Amino acid sequence: MNKGMLIVVSGPSGCGKGTILAEILKNDKFFYSISATTRNPRPGEVDGVNYHFLTKQKFEELIAGDGMLEYAAYCDNYYGTPKKPVEDMLNAGKHVILEIEVQGAMKIKEKCPDAVFVFILPPSLKELRRRLNKRGTESEEVIEKRLGEAAGEIKYAYKYDYALINGELSEAVDDLLSIIRAEELNTKNSENNINEVLENA
Ligand code: 5GP
Repeated sequence: MNKGMLIVVSGPSGCGKGTILAEILKNDKFFYSISATTRNPRPGEVDGVNYHFLTKQKFEELIAGDGMLEYAAYCDNYYGTPKKPVEDMLNAGKHVILEIEVQGAMKIKEKCPDAVFVFILPPSLKELRRRLNKRGTESEEVIEKRLGEAAGEIKYAYKYDYALINGELSEAVDDLLSIIRAEELNTKNSENNINEVLENA
């Protein structure tokens, strides 16, 4: 069995990362890393499913105990990736998906250079605004703050391995699955497959 791949997915708020990932996650070879955050749950969000919703104090305890693979402050809240489930699932051969913002992704790039980095772009900033307004889960003030971050975040796309545009959902899903398949077949990830063929000669 090959070890799973760490797949880092970023994109500005409202670009549709969650919708694309929900499709991908129908296949159980993927594991979605549930982040911890200090932000309040949105209506419908469930603790332990969408996020681990923590107090600032509890979050800082986790950081101090080296329990986070990465963490970042984004729009006045902390967000972070609990380390243990990620390590366990990679060792179990699952591809682990981190849906995280750019600062955290850059930290993962230093720690885990073999991870695959995918940036999701909206078709335009105008469309991003339209999607955020339509989602209607944030106040006007929070929407403006998130849009204010978007252009700066998009400049980081150059640091990722792939950038795909989420215009038509099914195309974006196919693009992401193609990227993942190509990475699975990359020789750096298929050492065990190669060895198995040689051993069974
Ligand atoms: P939201 O509040 O919309 O759920 O997330 C805000 C931003 O935080 C998104 O870009 C999301 O990808 C990012 N985010 C979610 N979890 C994590 C995490 O564990 N670490 C980091 N660095 N960013 C995260």
